[in-house]
Amino acid sequence: MANRAYNFNAGPAALPLEVLQQAQEQFVEFDNTGMSLMEMSHRGAVYEKVHYETENLLRELLGIPEGYKVLFLQGGASTQFAMIPMNLLSPGKVGAYVATGSWATKAIEEAKLFGDTAIAASSEADKYARIPSLTDVKIPDNAAYLHVTSNETIEGTQWQAYPDSGSVPLIGDLSSDILCRPIDVSRFGLIYAGAQKNLGPSGVTIAVIREDLIGKPSMTVPTMLRYSTHAKADSLYNTPPTFAIYMVNTVLKWVKANGGAAGMAARNGEKAKLLYDAIDGSGGFYRGFAESASRSIMNVTFRMGSEELEKQFAKESEANGFVGLKGHRSVGGLRASIYNAVPPESVQALVSFMKDFQSRNG
Ligand SMILES: *Cc1c(COP(=O)(O)O)cnc(C)c1O
Repeated sequence: MANRAYNFNAGPAALPLEVLQQAQEQFVEFDNTGMSLMEMSHRGAVYEKVHYETENLLRELLGIPEGYKVLFLQGGASTQFAMIPMNLLSPGKVGAYVATGSWATKAIEEAKLFGDTAIAASSEADKYARIPSLTDVKIPDNAAYLHVTSNETIEGTQWQAYPDSGSVPLIGDLSSDILCRPIDVSRFGLIYAGAQKNLGPSGVTIAVIREDLIGKPSMTVPTMLRYSTHAKADSLYNTPPTFAIYMVNTVLKWVKANGGAAGMAARNGEKAKLLYDAIDGSGGFYRGFAESASRSIMNVTFRMGSEELEKQFAKESEANGFVGLKGHRSVGGLRASIYNAVPPESVQALVSFMKDFQSRNG
């Protein structure tokens, strides 16, 4: 297919070409039903099959054990920042957070609207260029949960192993690295992720929640913002984002056909290595932002000698068919987001461009 850009967008982000083509084929008429999936009831058998199949694919690919509910929610991961404290905090308890960067900070600020929070560890003093070491994570006795941001999309850091939170439920924001590698779901009380980085288009947020955490909130919570509402109704309490869920379904089948979470880890590891090797081998022309031990295999962040040079890199890369390499406005520099669907060929092309750019400007 002609004209596919080298897409390094941070989110919404690249989708597998096969997925887009399949969606195109099924767009106008779904499965001999005489209509598009978008035109049919979410209570009908045809949609329900897609809905439950998507749940089952997630269960299979994430290795979700018994005793967890899989929810399809709306409002993005940002709404989870509020739903978590609203549903899980109670008087005398605190929400404990590891402050790893921009997204963790947003989660903390939101939780403060609903109750008390505690910082279990922070790398703010190091400009969030690293994930705190596991031994630095201190969970208060009265913690209702410990929240970690698995991958800091903006800074380009990623937990390599998650903290052991004992009997305190561990909550993970996996918006930018869900299914990028195998994880042990049983370590978590709750995992959530907006779909638009690794799972599909924007519009649906996945939550995987341990059943004992789905109780009655101790504060007044709108019906739509209670986990129990969606858990009881299998995410069909009201109209779910049917097309987004269908797209996630199609992406999950692609993940499965490509080796599942382990297959993704191998593919992502190779892509990330190509880029980090190019950065580390540039003699300082490119400098990785994240400390080596905290580097993300999803968002590769780097800086150059001057902002001028970074601007020039961004501009020239665009002219050469690369999209989305400018770093987030809050931290500057450059960032290549290499989620599951980004093909290795895009990364190879970027590495060639980086070498060429250096030879002309180094
Ligand atoms: C993108 C992102 C979010 C915000 O997701 P929305 O779906 O836009 O609300 C939250 N956390 C992380 C780690 C992200 O990468």
